[in-house]
Amino acid sequence: MSIIIALFVICAMVSGSFASDPDPLQDVCVANLTSGVKVNGYPCKNAGNVSAADFFYSGLAKAAKPNNTMGSLVTPANVEKIPGLNTLGVSLSRIDYSPSGLNPPHTHPRATEIVFVLEGELEVGFITTANVLVSQTIKKGDIFVFPKGLVHFQKNNDAKVPAAVLSAFNSQMPGTQSIALTLFTSTPSVPDHVLTTAFQIGTKEVEKIRSKLTPKK
Ligand code: MN
Repeated sequence: MSIIIALFVICAMVSGSFASDPDPLQDVCVANLTSGVKVNGYPCKNAGNVSAADFFYSGLAKAAKPNNTMGSLVTPANVEKIPGLNTLGVSLSRIDYSPSGLNPPHTHPRATEIVFVLEGELEVGFITTANVLVSQTIKKGDIFVFPKGLVHFQKNNDAKVPAAVLSAFNSQMPGTQSIALTLFTSTPSVPDHVLTTAFQIGTKEVEKIRSKLTPKK
């Protein structure tokens, strides 16, 4: 009997560890993005008001021009842009890179990411919890996978031409935490003594990094 219980517990743990966004409980649940109701996702819009427009988006069709220090720009196509994605557990992004542009180290707390190179050649990688860097050069037509929650990056290898990728996620809202921005530009700020010890640097360096990373207004 105890073996059966143990097996049940193991199965429950395994299925839990593969869990992603919850499965839908109805055909469609188009997000009501303006509702004040808080649920795990968005409440459903009245079925009578649902139309094809709720499942359509053309915002990834054209290359976007990054005009920031990193030289990369992420254009999301998540539930906020496509309300019909609500409860379906998938979304896309397009990432455009300037020559030598970097999508700096970040994580997606709620999704695995799979990228397909549209243009150019990139050096990509993720770091495991055992602190091993898994990296590769990928070019037009190639695919690379960043496992859920792990820190990863992409860098345009070419100093002269732009690059672009299409990213798919197993979440309607994967979420992004950019490591440097999270630590150095949060509100309120992470205390200096946390950063000076964590990075083994002085207060002056902390201030320098903060001022360089904080968006100019
Ligand atoms: Mn990513």
